[in-house]
Amino acid sequence: YLKLEGIRKRFGDAQVLNGVDLSVAEGELVTLLGPSGCGKSTLLRCIAGLAELDGGSIVLERRELTSLPPRSRDVGMVFQSYALFPNLTVSQNVEYGMRMRGMAPAARRSRCRELLAMVDLEEKRDMYPQSLSGGQQQRVALARSLAVQPKLLLLDEPLSALDAKIRKNLRAEIRQIQRRLGMTTLFVTHDQEEALILSDRICIMNQGRIVQEGSPEQLYTAPRTEFAARFMGSYN
Ligand code: ATP
Ligand code: MG
Repeated sequence: YLKLEGIRKRFGDAQVLNGVDLSVAEGELVTLLGPSGCGKSTLLRCIAGLAELDGGSIVLERRELTSLPPRSRDVGMVFQSYALFPNLTVSQNVEYGMRMRGMAPAARRSRCRELLAMVDLEEKRDMYPQSLSGGQQQRVALARSLAVQPKLLLLDEPLSALDAKIRKNLRAEIRQIQRRLGMTTLFVTHDQEEALILSDRICIMNQGRIVQEGSPEQLYTAPRTEFAARFMGSYN
């Protein structure tokens, strides 16, 4: 469904992605887990078309994405820190992508209502982002990314700016929504616990490469390298 092959990316002298190969099945939630600076966000940005590749291919549902502009890729993305438009209300934020695609106002409004109901924020529809909590802003960002019915959802540490309690709730909520929609999802985190709870499959990344992949159980009980073991917290 999604197939990455030999993804390479450098910034100046730094080889940030060093031949990443990864497949994600339809409806699967795969987590990229790795230390700060290992290239997780860069990989997602490349898939979304926000950064250019130096080499490799990205195929989503039999379509090669590498030469397509971001808007034509059918990919939704939620960022590490909320990136809502501050001068637009909640519903205007959610409708933004649909408007860009020329969807009729009535259809837009009804889809927006549906999405805000899904993230439980109907009553905040006319508020501006700065008057929402961090967790609420991330839920709006999630609704906005789903508005255009992407084939692939990229979540770049959507919970990292939130405090522990909200993070746990929203984690469960994201998982529920992902399952219900059967949304193919690539989820980035450096939080092992989050990865173990959320994922169908985990890919451990280090220095621009995937060093091991497997089910949460496999990685936790049988890490193949000392790095993976330390990282999964099962090293002793
Ligand atoms: P974190 O967990 O801290 O978010 P990450 O795995 O997402 O880390 P990236 O943001 O992908 O890491 O960055 C990987 C490396 O690429 C870092 O060393 C970073 O400094 C570098 N890098 C990222 N973006 C750029 C850029 N636009 N220009 C130059 N270097 C960059
Ligand atoms: Mg990052």
